[in-house]
Amino acid sequence: MMATRSTVCSSFLKALLILLMCAALVDCGRAPERAYTSQLLALGTLVDITLWDVEPDAATDAVNAVEVALNEAHRRWHAWEPSDLTRLNEGLAAGRSVLIDADLRTVLEQATSLARASGQLFNPAVGRLIELWGFHSDDAPEGPPPAQSEIDRLLQQAPTMENLTFQGNRAVADNPRLQLDLGGFAKGLAVNRAIKVLRRHGIQHAIVNAGGDLRAIGQRGDRPWRIGIRHPVEPGIIASVETQGDDSVFTSGNYERYFDYQGRRYHHIIDPRTGYPANGTLSVTVIHDDAAVADAAATALFVAGPENWRDTAQRMGISKVMLIDEAMNVQMTDEMKGRITFEVDPPPEIVTVQAP
Ligand code: AMP
Ligand code: MG
Repeated sequence: MMATRSTVCSSFLKALLILLMCAALVDCGRAPERAYTSQLLALGTLVDITLWDVEPDAATDAVNAVEVALNEAHRRWHAWEPSDLTRLNEGLAAGRSVLIDADLRTVLEQATSLARASGQLFNPAVGRLIELWGFHSDDAPEGPPPAQSEIDRLLQQAPTMENLTFQGNRAVADNPRLQLDLGGFAKGLAVNRAIKVLRRHGIQHAIVNAGGDLRAIGQRGDRPWRIGIRHPVEPGIIASVETQGDDSVFTSGNYERYFDYQGRRYHHIIDPRTGYPANGTLSVTVIHDDAAVADAAATALFVAGPENWRDTAQRMGISKVMLIDEAMNVQMTDEMKGRITFEVDPPPEIVTVQAP
């Protein structure tokens, strides 16, 4: 009797075990989780690094090397903490020519050509304006906004990157009011460098995500990477994008750094023509294969605004754009439409614009 019951019991257990193994195998028909994630504090934001299919030791080495590269970016390009850039700004303001290394020169030349392509809407030479608005600080300013007379004074000086020239390994400005602030594309530059470091470590599938702005390479097993785009006025995401091969997705938003004063929001993206935070837009998302270009373009198109962003996109060679205006109208290019899935119900009305 006992023997029979135990036989029944063990056959039952065997059957259960086989069932569980089958279930596990069916589940394992999909790729097992092989993601390695790590978070760093760099560039004043949390940077998430996700690697796929990398041994833990190799992943740790690669992430450590990325951390070195990001700290280097901070040391070189910070707009108000002592950096190569602030030293350069001090010298230029004093009318001196300043010794710079080849790397900084390359970055400044890239800034100059992006500024030119944007019609000076992306203008990294207006550091004084950004400082005047109180955004050269880790904490958001509280207001009030600066006096009109002070804004006017800085507008009259109108520095652009065209005021900066190079003589051998020295930089010199013919407008002493030029103050460099690379905040509009430094994150993109840094993310590019991080990806370069990962590739040097043999990594082919990764995302480097600096506070929602990111570059993704390769894919997540047999699926593309899927990333979220933040909703400009509500918590959570408004849409998702599946990346293809090597894509950078950068968003400029009026919610990132701002202060509210007497019922109005004053944010950190300054229109160099008016000296005021750019009007009319909540957020602009750009996809491009170069993170620095995507970053600069998102800033420039935000400044260009809902009526004029197409021209600027065309001049900058940007074909994937989504702009959300202050009334929550969504405009996007054809090419962007093919890449985006809205994650809100109902999805917003979309105005599609032919590829610029
Ligand atoms: P982003 O979030 O990439 O649009 O960059 C915004 C940051 O870029 C600001 O915090 C400033 O440091 C800087 N910035 C603001 N306005 C401009 C502008 N018109 N052109 C270039 N950089 C800007
Ligand atoms: Mg930007």
